[in-house]
Amino acid sequence: MAFAAHGAGRDRRDLVVASPQDRMTDAPLRDILLRRIAAEGPITVAAYMADCLLHPEHGYYRTQQAIGLGGDFTTAPEISQMFGELLGLWAADCWLKQGGPSKCYLVELGPGRGTLMHDALRAIRALPPFRKALQPVLIEASARLRGMQAELLAGEDAVWHEDIAAIPKDAPIFVLANEFLDALPIRQFQRGDDGAWHERCVGLDDSGSLCFLLDPRALPFDDLLPPELREAPPGAIVESSPAMRAVAVDIAARLRLQGGAALFVDYGYATPGIGETLQAVYRHTYADPLSDPGLADLTAHVDFASFALAATRAGAAVFGPAGQGTFLEALGIRARAAALKQANPAVQGDIERAVQRLTGPEAMGTLFKALALLPPESPMPAGFA
Ligand code: SAH
Repeated sequence: MAFAAHGAGRDRRDLVVASPQDRMTDAPLRDILLRRIAAEGPITVAAYMADCLLHPEHGYYRTQQAIGLGGDFTTAPEISQMFGELLGLWAADCWLKQGGPSKCYLVELGPGRGTLMHDALRAIRALPPFRKALQPVLIEASARLRGMQAELLAGEDAVWHEDIAAIPKDAPIFVLANEFLDALPIRQFQRGDDGAWHERCVGLDDSGSLCFLLDPRALPFDDLLPPELREAPPGAIVESSPAMRAVAVDIAARLRLQGGAALFVDYGYATPGIGETLQAVYRHTYADPLSDPGLADLTAHVDFASFALAATRAGAAVFGPAGQGTFLEALGIRARAAALKQANPAVQGDIERAVQRLTGPEAMGTLFKALALLPPESPMPAGFA
């Protein structure tokens, strides 16, 4: 059997690809992790990733500017207002198809600077009954980013929660999430020469620095890994994200009970494969994932097949994944771009470049994908052929 290899092309987010710089940053989280690992032993890649991103004091999303020109990476809503507008209209279309309930929530998971929600709400003003029915709900773990979002969304009657579990339960939910799933911790497993699978961990090397190593204990190959990868060759690394599957299950259960729709846009692969995709980005440049804990962004490619399977098992109807390019074209990005160009002739070139960046197969159009979850037996939502 041939195995698809992931992670070979590091073509995410339009970054400058440079070799890791030879630098030693002042990362307070590094000392905490070094002490913890020295005292308690190696930690899983998932535990490392969770600490790097969300450590209460020194986690990346707690302290860093992250998104935008002054941050480490740029995302689709930051490239153009068209992205958030089209996603807002996608939610409006789902709301209409479900009979236009008089009360509902427009939920965003991991809203970053709040740009997507801001643009979505502006587009939704074209449909006043939807705007009147909805309350914006933002699920954000970072207090710093919550502050930025609150500034941008002042006057929109929005509420904030840290966790998906806190999404209100009394009305349908229309959920948008861009580059949220890629920030959820992954576990990594490697097949040893003995044929058994071992968990990849972060430990200390002879000089006392962080390094990857394998847990010597063999793991039973149960639900953690896609069954078709069971016979991968020795040395193969396979990733699995229980945290991401938990999101699929939670949202699917809510859609079944409350109604609504959910749209996840992220970069990742449509079929399971071998290869590691954990990557660190520091100031728009790829970095070594172990070199700047808490200072660099850490993400992994999203395994859309596992996400879809978990959601299907939890009772949702799943559509996609569709390439972001195809999806945005189907939602009318060309027509929106034409209208914007006409209204802003001075920036026509910028608008065209944004369309290319969001939809071009060599840019974000193929690597990024859209996947929708709906209540069971729902008809196909807009954007999916
Ligand atoms: N959607 C935004 C930001 C993407 S970055 C955009 O497209 O620009 C990831 C976002 O998810 C950040 O807002 C980060 O703080 C948030 N986040 C990461 N892990 C989270 C978690 N476990 N719970 C809630 N929010 C989380």
